[in-house]
Amino acid sequence: MARINEHYAKLPASYLFPEIGRRVRAYQASHPDAKVIRLGIGDVTEPLAPSITAAMHAAVDEMASRPTFRGYGPEQGYDFLVEAIRKHDYAARGVDLAADEIFVSDGSKCDSGNIQEIFAHGARIAVTDPVYPVYVDSNVMAGRTAAAGPDGRYPGLTYLVGNEANGFQPEPPAGGGEPIDVVYLCSPNNPTGTVATREQLARWVAWAKANDAIILFDAAYEAYISDPALPRSIYEIEGALDCALELRSFSKRAGFTGVRCAYMVVPKRVTGIGAGGARVSLNSLWARRHTTKFNGASYVVQRGAAAVYTPEGLAETAAQIAFYMENARMLREGLAASRFTVFGGVHAPYLWLRTPSGSSSWDFFDKLLADAQIVGTPGAGFGPAGEGYFRLSAFNSRENIEEAIGRLRRAFG
Ligand code: PLP
Repeated sequence: MARINEHYAKLPASYLFPEIGRRVRAYQASHPDAKVIRLGIGDVTEPLAPSITAAMHAAVDEMASRPTFRGYGPEQGYDFLVEAIRKHDYAARGVDLAADEIFVSDGSKCDSGNIQEIFAHGARIAVTDPVYPVYVDSNVMAGRTAAAGPDGRYPGLTYLVGNEANGFQPEPPAGGGEPIDVVYLCSPNNPTGTVATREQLARWVAWAKANDAIILFDAAYEAYISDPALPRSIYEIEGALDCALELRSFSKRAGFTGVRCAYMVVPKRVTGIGAGGARVSLNSLWARRHTTKFNGASYVVQRGAAAVYTPEGLAETAAQIAFYMENARMLREGLAASRFTVFGGVHAPYLWLRTPSGSSSWDFFDKLLADAQIVGTPGAGFGPAGEGYFRLSAFNSRENIEEAIGRLRRAFG
């Protein structure tokens, strides 16, 4: 008899997006003519840039010919991609990384879900609230928590609340609170669309160094930052190479949600405590994990990712991001004109709005669907502190964004 991992039973029966899908299907079944606009799931809508598909086509042709065919590649990624990442994403910003500090993967979801396994079962984990649910659920699955309490929180995790008072960017905990070994930070943030300033990240790095803690910094949306004063990498902050890992993805930066490519930076200087109190490099642990459980992202995909860094690729992907951010600007203005209180959406493709008249975020979901045929994401799905808020995504066609703004005006004035 195979006993199952009972920690899975602590997870909510239905994950956020399946529940949204269920409600939308029910609505459409009773309103078959309604044209529903989906501003819920954060998935890109623009096709891959021409320079990326050209590189992938060429790579497919290489695979079709005996002399250029490739089988398994290096687990950490091909040199051509790792070098492009080092040069463009880091050296250009004054950050010097070694090639073997970069781990190419098939997505930041896997990286952010898997990274917890190199920490002790008893490691004390902190997340922000609201939060990208993967950080929480992967720690629940690993058995680091008890069952969720009535407030939806898992005992065993520390929740750092993001709210209007702190601009949805929680500060490091003051001394005397629960001790924390590992904290997940995400900037630009999913779901709130807000972004951490250099000063805020500097306070986190100072806190991590003072407390011998590790920051897991998810920068999946860094390409959406347009203000050069804002940090796109945590390594722009002095000292972060000693205490932070960084996750980056090509999903939102270059439309790779269906292609799958990402990477994680694990600097060799970042260490944890091993048996007997010895310091152990997280880089060597992650290399062991990666080479044991992952056989590399595909050659064709990595050629596509490397094309993002060519002059054409940079220009084409920048134009896509500008397109989505114009959508975000229009949505922000439309929502403000309909008297919504809106956060985010300036350096991130997400807008975070306060639900009107204090309605619950699922009630507002149903109302928005019924009155405007717009699907968004209830803030409560991202944690208890998301209750009373709602996420809209700017990933859509211009036509749909304009239509959505018109519907909001008609439904909410
Ligand atoms: N991290 C954050 C904060 C995200 O919002 C997402 C996707 O929505 C991911 C990671 C996952 O990215 P990927 O497509 O690379 O798995």
